[in-house]
Amino acid sequence: MTELDLPMIVTEIAAELAAETERGQVADYIPELARVNPGQFGLALALPDGRVIAAGDTEVPFSIQSVSKVFTLALALGRHGDRVWERVGREPSGDPFNSIVQLEYEKGRPRNPFINAGAIAVTDALLSSYAPREALGEILRFLQYLAGDDDIAIDPAVARSEQETGFRNVALANFMRGYGVLSGEPAKVLGVYFHHCAIAMSVRQLARAGRFLAFDGRLSPHGPRAVSSRMARQINALMLTCGHYDGSGEFAFRVGLPGKSGVGGGILAVAPGQASIGCWSPGLNAVGNSLLASRALERLAERTGWSVFTAR
Ligand code: GLU
Repeated sequence: MTELDLPMIVTEIAAELAAETERGQVADYIPELARVNPGQFGLALALPDGRVIAAGDTEVPFSIQSVSKVFTLALALGRHGDRVWERVGREPSGDPFNSIVQLEYEKGRPRNPFINAGAIAVTDALLSSYAPREALGEILRFLQYLAGDDDIAIDPAVARSEQETGFRNVALANFMRGYGVLSGEPAKVLGVYFHHCAIAMSVRQLARAGRFLAFDGRLSPHGPRAVSSRMARQINALMLTCGHYDGSGEFAFRVGLPGKSGVGGGILAVAPGQASIGCWSPGLNAVGNSLLASRALERLAERTGWSVFTAR
């Protein structure tokens, strides 16, 4: 196979998408997200040799929202290993990300760690080892270490708004506490959850932070290990099956790579062995995934041939 011209592919995709007029709707459940300019787009690839290839709005920090759930899951698995699966399942949900319905059927045990209930249960697991402030510090330090960048922080205004409007998350946490799936005090668990959703990162930082998923648990093919290779494989499997809300099947079909999206318009995608990919555009499609970031990743997968379903 001829060498891919990745800088050209990335630049072309960014230019094509900058010209799109249909950009989706920005999330509007809190004012901080409703205010974001939908005209922005960024794409960054972190490669095995340490290079980052990026185009568009590559340095603008955006609210990573549910993409943070990948990193809290990695931390919780690192701390508690397979015991995490006692509180949360591994099946796609088929219900909206903030649904309470199936918690009733499954005795308070969320179907997967990427719906809100599941991520709240994972945060609760982290709080069995840390006090809330320590847990948040641990999450931020983990991201800074993975990205090799100390300049990653929580946006306090977003955290405050999440806290003020997160009534459904309060309901989910109390429901799970009622079933004993949550062991901590719901308010404390939610405080940490709302704050980790409010972490802001650029696509460059996100691409670098996701390298451990592309390189078998390491920051580069022969670099330092962040998680075991088994754990990286398991997280990728969950991203592929559950990473895009009710659009997970469509994303797997169109892009063919594990990915996790957030309502801030960010997507972290993983081409195993090839690249960790950060993509962002704030406008969302009908199921809450970034319209243009999904489109960009589909084009990237087509033009590179990257797919977890293709023999290489
Ligand atoms: N903070 C949002 C919530 O908990 C996360 C939304 C998302 O990105 O899925 O409702």
